[in-house]
Amino acid sequence: EFFDIKQFATAVIEQMDSSLKNGQTIRYTHRGDTTIVLVKNILHNILLNLLSNASKYSCEDQPIDLYIEIADNELTIQIRDQGIGIPAEDQPYIFNNFFRAKNTAGIEGTGLGLHIVKRYMELLNGCVHFSSRDKEGTVFTVRCRGRQ
Ligand code: ATP
Ligand code: MG
Repeated sequence: EFFDIKQFATAVIEQMDSSLKNGQTIRYTHRGDTTIVLVKNILHNILLNLLSNASKYSCEDQPIDLYIEIADNELTIQIRDQGIGIPAEDQPYIFNNFFRAKNTAGIEGTGLGLHIVKRYMELLNGCVHFSSRDKEGTVFTVRCRGRQ
């Protein structure tokens, strides 16, 4: 469906707010067009998964940056945290079902969220990638085209 992503992102951030850790904030930056045609529920699920990971794998008081851009009907979403990072040797596996990196001991999770994000991005003919450094933080990028 056709919708305003700026309004949508603001609502998702508000929804996330109560589940953030103490002192965590989501800093949202938008660039380019604000409307796109996409299956809203899918995008909602992707955003919640990535934002909740950013929160869960960061400490109190660490900010999360959400950057959204639409240009020429192409949507890019970037979610950056300053959290625990993903150890290099675990990075090849994080999209696998039930995989959890070894630095997640004591943090709850099932290892399904990213697998679902990857499947959804395939469904949208888009892609997802990430870059991460152990103990420094992680950035996830998803990209896809809006429907015509
Ligand atoms: P859930 O199914 O509840 O989402 P989960 O968060 O463990 O559980 P995924 O979201 O699929 O599962 O993430 C898989 C693994 O990738 C995590 O267990 C963690 O090791 C790593 N990971 C994902 N996002 C981050 C992040 N932002 N920072 C550090 N590690 C991350
Ligand atoms: Mg998760």
